[in-house]
Amino acid sequence: MNRSPVIGVLALQGDYREHLAMLDAVGTPGIPVRTAEEIEGLDGLIIPGGESTTMSLLADRFTLWPALHAARDRGMPMFGTCAGLIMLADALIDARPDQRTIGGLAVTVRRNAFGRQVDSFETTVDLPGLGIADYPAVFIRAPLVETTSPEVQIHGKLHDGALAGTIVSVQQGPLLATAFHPELTSDTRIHEYFVQMVRQST
Ligand code: GLN
Repeated sequence: MNRSPVIGVLALQGDYREHLAMLDAVGTPGIPVRTAEEIEGLDGLIIPGGESTTMSLLADRFTLWPALHAARDRGMPMFGTCAGLIMLADALIDARPDQRTIGGLAVTVRRNAFGRQVDSFETTVDLPGLGIADYPAVFIRAPLVETTSPEVQIHGKLHDGALAGTIVSVQQGPLLATAFHPELTSDTRIHEYFVQMVRQST
């Protein structure tokens, strides 16, 4: 496309400002979105890290689910980080009973699954599926991808320590997700990848 894509960051709660700063850094400024009308006008949507139960409640309160599900159904590229991964998952373990998701990513995700000792940590990950090596990954009460359907691409896993083999990034068509927070680093490679996905889809 010739024009710059319009990428929104769901700004109900969480670290949406950091995602907006990353989009600035890659030269494709985004907009914070809080209404159904704003969601309808987008080419791509980022769902930030934060607290997925609160995001779900606020999406109820602002009646955003129809717009979010419609955007997913029409194939809008979406990128979820941490709580955003939870928001894109089809199935949750340890969710609040009334918690809802956008869905579309055929994975089962367990909330807050890394346990007490490793509640929050930083490590380097390789994401061969994205062509990215040595990415500084920040995990904060991260969700664990427990099962993936065959149509889900696994972009990378943790490679050492007790958690070796843990899936940290997945994609299914236009839906990209990481269990960690690229927005809390200064490494823009994953945001660049997402912006490319959005450009190619419009
Ligand atoms: N534990 C949070 C949740 O369930 C996710 C944590 C995060 O986004 N840093 O939503």
